[in-house]
Amino acid sequence: MAILYQDTKYEGVHDRIAHTAEHAFIGALQKILGQTLQVRKVEHKKSGNTAFIIISDLELQTVLDAQENVNELIEQGRNITERKFGSIEDAINAYPLLRANKARISGEVRVVEIENHDVAACALEHAGTLRECEFFLVTRLSKNGSEYEVDFLVGKPAKDAARSLSARFMRLCIELGANINTVENTAMKLKGEADTLRQKLKSVSLEKLAAIVPGKIGKFTLLKGVFSNLDDDQIVEFAGERTDDENVLVLIANVGPEIARVVFARNEKSSDLDCSELFKQVVRADGRGGGKPHFVTGVIKREALDRLMNEMTEEIVKSA
Ligand SMILES: [Zn+2]
Repeated sequence: MAILYQDTKYEGVHDRIAHTAEHAFIGALQKILGQTLQVRKVEHKKSGNTAFIIISDLELQTVLDAQENVNELIEQGRNITERKFGSIEDAINAYPLLRANKARISGEVRVVEIENHDVAACALEHAGTLRECEFFLVTRLSKNGSEYEVDFLVGKPAKDAARSLSARFMRLCIELGANINTVENTAMKLKGEADTLRQKLKSVSLEKLAAIVPGKIGKFTLLKGVFSNLDDDQIVEFAGERTDDENVLVLIANVGPEIARVVFARNEKSSDLDCSELFKQVVRADGRGGGKPHFVTGVIKREALDRLMNEMTEEIVKSA
């Protein structure tokens, strides 16, 4: 299998060694996947290299396997040879697997071969043997639309990054209280526990909110409450649902470690009370908030919360 590099745009400083390793890497990926890859472009920058590969699915394990393969080839010091052909047809005759966009290539073609690994048409400079690449390291894999971006380093920058990543990984294990051999399990367990706690908090929040006793103020039905450490999303959802009923007002504060979050909402159609304006008028310099005339969310210093709740209630009484 082969790749065509004439279509690849190079940006920034062209790095001969990094580019050579990239041939080996794309070749390794192709062998593992059993398909030819479309590399839209490759960027070689001071901070590192990125290959943009158009493919519907590229798993991390595949990339890691290809990385292993590239480092084996580097250790073996596979030779790199270049052959020139008078035309793309001659090149394809010699290398039937050479993929080439015939329409784009005219005249002389250079074919670059990594010994028993990969053949590609490429006009750029290459190392004489893969041993010159020293070490190949993938540092990031991410999906962006219909293509994957693979960041990689080669040679000394790759060795430096490996040490730095290893140090960061060990510090992360200490932070997580994890054994280096079982850290993935620890992370999954922590994630599972966090999900369970989030679900519990959601249930507790729903129970507390459902227990609010409505109060009558003139035409309004006021659902008012001050809580501690409930799920803010559940409060917003609750306010949205309850104000579907005509003349319902919701005024709820959720006190956190440093600030309290406040939701003040009314039915969208049954009143012209401007919740947002009223909140801003009462909160003054003790907090801030914003939203729509029928729905405002804001924050306030804990020590000013009582004042806010009282004054808001007074204002509601005035407009009821
Ligand atoms: Zn090349």
